[in-house]
Amino acid sequence: MKVLVAAPLHERAIEVLKNAGFEVIYEEYPDEEKLVELVGDVDAIIVRSKPKVTRRVIEAAPKLKVIGRAGVGLDNIDLEAAKERGIKVVNSPGASSRSVAELAVALMFAVARKIAFADRKMREGVWAKKQCMGMELEGKTLGIVGFGRIGYSIAKIARALGMNVLLYDPYPNEERAREVGGKFVPLEELLKESDVVTLHVPLVEQTYHLINEERLRLMKPTAILINAARGAVVDTNALVKALREGWIAGAGLDVFEEEPLPKDHPLTKLDNVVLTPHIGASTVEAQMRAGVQVAEQIVEILKG
Ligand code: NAD
Repeated sequence: MKVLVAAPLHERAIEVLKNAGFEVIYEEYPDEEKLVELVGDVDAIIVRSKPKVTRRVIEAAPKLKVIGRAGVGLDNIDLEAAKERGIKVVNSPGASSRSVAELAVALMFAVARKIAFADRKMREGVWAKKQCMGMELEGKTLGIVGFGRIGYSIAKIARALGMNVLLYDPYPNEERAREVGGKFVPLEELLKESDVVTLHVPLVEQTYHLINEERLRLMKPTAILINAARGAVVDTNALVKALREGWIAGAGLDVFEEEPLPKDHPLTKLDNVVLTPHIGASTVEAQMRAGVQVAEQIVEILKG
């Protein structure tokens, strides 16, 4: 059996494949032409968010039985073409949950204690002690919008920090909520009551601009908004207004409506915002877990 690894993959994942007796060929992010050339005799392909596995690639791979995506999103794979051929598609949805949760908490602290701002000032030679009055998280209310894998992981950390947890999710998991001492409430109530609001919903029609001008106006003027879900869950123009005019106190953002965030974007001009370049899943542990989980599923499918 032959597996084409078409994106950087953790060495432990490669070991899983080799230990199963598979031949592994590696080509980093081949273009469609090169992929078509490489897939002629492979049983499996592993990708990340790149390269694209198009219908043409699938049609050029008569032995292909499984496509593995080390990570979550499947938008670079032609699922329809795979389905028509009975090719299985596997991914690793939970592999990065803890990493994203930890980044969201890191952003909360960074905004609450003005860490990025203070660091910038230090480098300019400015001792900005007076401008860096912060807020403690203990005893504050955290509103988690979307109580799935990542939301649950954050709730566990929030509990350890001594925060009160409010939850909003159209499909409430009451047992998990009890476990983390969280309480489901309507979205409007969550926005009004929370000191920190963190978003962990998928981007679907119902969540596009879920946090719009009207909802931002419900939040406390001292509140912080964290978005490590998808940029378009928040109406960016409304958020810029909210941050400029003080409807909320600050924001921590890992995701943007346009990525990479354009140079000189209004968000980059605001001192009460902390920005990171979509790095929620960018940890050694998450990448290792994602690779190993996908490799193990491929072994099971090809050998089973
Ligand atoms: P999940 O599917 O486990 O949880 C999503 C939750 O959102 C579910 O409980 C679902 O019921 C809920 N939900 C659906 N529609 C909703 C709505 N309209 N309002 C409120 N809640 C709603 O997903 P997850 O693994 O927790 O990931 C959440 C999102 O995080 C992903 O969809 C992805 O966009 C994002 N993500 C970001 C990074 C990053 O690098 N920043 C990495 C991984 C995932």
